[in-house]
Amino acid sequence: MTEISLSGWGRLPVAACRLLVPGTAAAVIAEAKGETSLIARGNGRAYGDAALNRAATLSTLKLDRLLAFDPISGVLTAEAGLLLSDLLALFAPRGWFPPVTPGTRFVTLGGMLAADVHGKNHHRDGSFGEHVLGFELLCGDGERRRCSPRENPELFHATIGGMGLTGIVMNLTLRLRRIESSWMVQETLRCRDLDEALAGFAASESWTYSVAWIDCLARGRDRGRAVLYRGEHAGRDATLEGQAVPAAPPRRKPTLRVPVDLPGWVLNGTAMAAFNALYYQRARPGGAFIDIETFFYPLDAITAWNRIYGRRGFLQYQCVVPLEGGRDALLALLEITSRARAGSFLAVLKQFGARGSGLLSFPMPGYTLALDFPATAEIFALLQQLDLVVAACGGRLYLAKDARMGADLMRDSYSNLDRFRDVCREVDPDQRFRSLLSERLHLR
Ligand SMILES: Cc1cc2nc3c(=O)[nH]c(=O)nc-3n(C[C@H](O)[C@H](O)[C@H](O)COP(=O)(O)OP(=O)(O)OC[C@H]3O[C@@H](n4cnc5c(N)ncnc54)[C@H](O)[C@@H]3O)c2cc1C
Repeated sequence: MTEISLSGWGRLPVAACRLLVPGTAAAVIAEAKGETSLIARGNGRAYGDAALNRAATLSTLKLDRLLAFDPISGVLTAEAGLLLSDLLALFAPRGWFPPVTPGTRFVTLGGMLAADVHGKNHHRDGSFGEHVLGFELLCGDGERRRCSPRENPELFHATIGGMGLTGIVMNLTLRLRRIESSWMVQETLRCRDLDEALAGFAASESWTYSVAWIDCLARGRDRGRAVLYRGEHAGRDATLEGQAVPAAPPRRKPTLRVPVDLPGWVLNGTAMAAFNALYYQRARPGGAFIDIETFFYPLDAITAWNRIYGRRGFLQYQCVVPLEGGRDALLALLEITSRARAGSFLAVLKQFGARGSGLLSFPMPGYTLALDFPATAEIFALLQQLDLVVAACGGRLYLAKDARMGADLMRDSYSNLDRFRDVCREVDPDQRFRSLLSERLHLR
């Protein structure tokens, strides 16, 4: 047990936390027992303060065993600290793929459940929790409870998207999806403005995966211009313009590493606007076979890319806006961002399908926009302007990305917060499970 400086992926805030790293499920139970305030931590890929507790932050990374797999149904049971990257390395070559994956594979299954993560297939398949059949939860009252849609259903739904506040997920059971190759069929569309991008999503509803990179610094007629990618897992007999799917599995690509914290001036508005314009111009519309890693995890090719933003860290602002009024809200968000020349090149737009099944799940029918901002002194005032737009249209912010929203916006935008608090109180009357996030947003 050691006290170390910990942060999320955005490197803001940084807190001195007592880190517990138990090696087995039995050790997790024993170590958690003695703590009056603690939170579970997976691989630290939430951007803000969700996996931070100064008194005790309990790493689940050693809880990574596979417990059962049925090769007929694809139902897998594994400990919660299993990394998605390990699951992929083992199962993708054997024809199985996670039902939902975020944009990085360096997350744990427990972290995916606790944030109820969404992927590029949300419009078709919903978020991660929809595919979880059950899990075992170590609660604050010391009880271990089995949870599923039938067993402790209220606790099941509070834990999905509950950011670790209902207890520690020890292991979980989920259903993987069948794939026939490690390749994707990808089609690229260039959209001249936001309306074309939204029309592109509407025209891509029958595709399993769709996502758009959006130029958040383009102004005037070009505001909201985007490159939209849609994709399907390539069948073993897939062809594209007469070409068969590659016979060999994709070669592992070398990863690049950002060696040092870059100085702040590297990411100035002019450089970013130039990068974005180039990215848009160079996107080649049309179809291609592309490997799974490049399609789902382009950023994983650059190790420690969060250092690009320098020592001060960065904030990701991810909101969802409802379908009705969503277009105008997106235009307003882009207008504020481009006027301030403040957003960066990593802006992503996705269409969401149904509401998530967790009490604090982020998704709702609409559009989600994610923007990265270097953590400068001025940025907080700008983000408050964005908050006003999101609140006015009935949208909300994603807890897994957040490091700064206020408790009022949280309360007003997550309508099940009181029910969530009631469930937490029942299984953790002494409020032992807490994090910097839960304290900032009064989640307990
Ligand atoms: C490059 C990048 C791309 C991303 N893309 C997406 C995306 O497309 N879609 C999306 O939804 N998210 C995305 N994310 C966010 C990420 O998927 C979530 O933050 C996820 O929760 C991180 O998992 P983790 O294992 O690192 O958990 P951590 O960051 O360590 O913890 C996150 C939360 O999970 C809780 N938790 C972790 N393990 C357990 C457990 N065993 N029991 C109970 N609670 C637990 C923690 O308490 C904390 O509240 C992205 C993040 C990055 C860095």
